[in-house]
Amino acid sequence: MEIEVVEGDITEQQVDAVVNAANNRMRGGSGVDGAIHGAGGPEVLADCVRRFPEGLATGDAGWTTAGLMPARWVIHVVGPNRNVGQTDRSLLTSCYRRALEVADEIGARLVAFPLISAGAYGWPKDDAVDAALETLRGTPTQVETARIVAFGRSSYDLITERL
Ligand code: ADP
Repeated sequence: MEIEVVEGDITEQQVDAVVNAANNRMRGGSGVDGAIHGAGGPEVLADCVRRFPEGLATGDAGWTTAGLMPARWVIHVVGPNRNVGQTDRSLLTSCYRRALEVADEIGARLVAFPLISAGAYGWPKDDAVDAALETLRGTPTQVETARIVAFGRSSYDLITERL
């Protein structure tokens, strides 16, 4: 699998699936979650309600429609929230591994990822990048390209430095 890095907004990516850093309830939120529900429109939330009536466990992943976005699917994951004491790194790497498994289920070959847990959930950015790269590299998958979408120049520089 190829790993590429771009700077931009994940909601605008022309890919098969975009990964969302969601929360356990899966009913929308702030940060990339808010951007994805905003750009995808109400169909994304309706599909979350329909397909995930109980939401999603931390470390797990599940897909919905991408609604109005150029992508076909959203793969929602729930990263660990360090601000409430969820410091188990395997919960973070699990998000990337499970996202690739779900991508394989739906046949997505080009998948865009945000830096899961690196925003409101407070994971240190350098380790969030290392966890992403390590897991994307180490997980057998049919996904051909994982595109990490850096939100801002400093994230872009950090990721390319560690790549
Ligand atoms: P979490 O709650 O998992 O920390 P956040 O959405 O707060 O999720 O942040 C995760 C990462 O997504 C951060 O690096 C943040 O800068 C980035 N981000 C926020 N909005 C977007 C967007 N529209 N596209 C790509 N990345 C985004």
